[in-house]
Amino acid sequence: MTKVLYPGSFDPITKGHMDIISQAKELFDEVIVAVMMNSQKKESLFTIEERKNLIQKLYKSENIKVVTGSGATVDLAIAYDCKAIIRGLRGMTDFDYEIQLAEINKDISENQINTVCLFADSNHQFISSSIVKEVLSLNKSIEKYVDPIVEEEMKKKILK
Ligand code: ADP
Repeated sequence: MTKVLYPGSFDPITKGHMDIISQAKELFDEVIVAVMMNSQKKESLFTIEERKNLIQKLYKSENIKVVTGSGATVDLAIAYDCKAIIRGLRGMTDFDYEIQLAEINKDISENQINTVCLFADSNHQFISSSIVKEVLSLNKSIEKYVDPIVEEEMKKKILK
């Protein structure tokens, strides 16, 4: 059984992330979505547990598991017996950063963990968690960018 780890902040999960997950589950037997504690991103809308619960509500299928993690992503990948890490690319701006991350992850895991990059469908590529938060705070519709379950929870936080 080939497992893959999909790490990220997911604050919150968007249709861009969901597009990557649906592609990954066609390629691997199990996708482990890892909500990572990111010390670089101080301000977050949802707590780690809230983000995890939201993703769990969206995926009840057996081949998607949601976990939380901190520290090195490669250590988490090894702990969950994953062969690779999935990253989603939105375009050239992501590419430079992701290639660096892929190389360093391969190196610090002593070649155990490789990175597989996937591209979201063109109408999902421009979506990011931060843009969606900004759009909602301007009181504009975000239904095209996130699942209704996520939209409802975001409204409780942003439009209180
Ligand atoms: P991070 O803080 O690690 O960038 P994110 O939650 O923003 O975490 O994203 C997790 C992964 O999903 C990253 O590889 C990111 O590039 C990818 N991703 C996010 N949004 C999209 C999108 N709209 N299309 C494709 N990939 C995406």
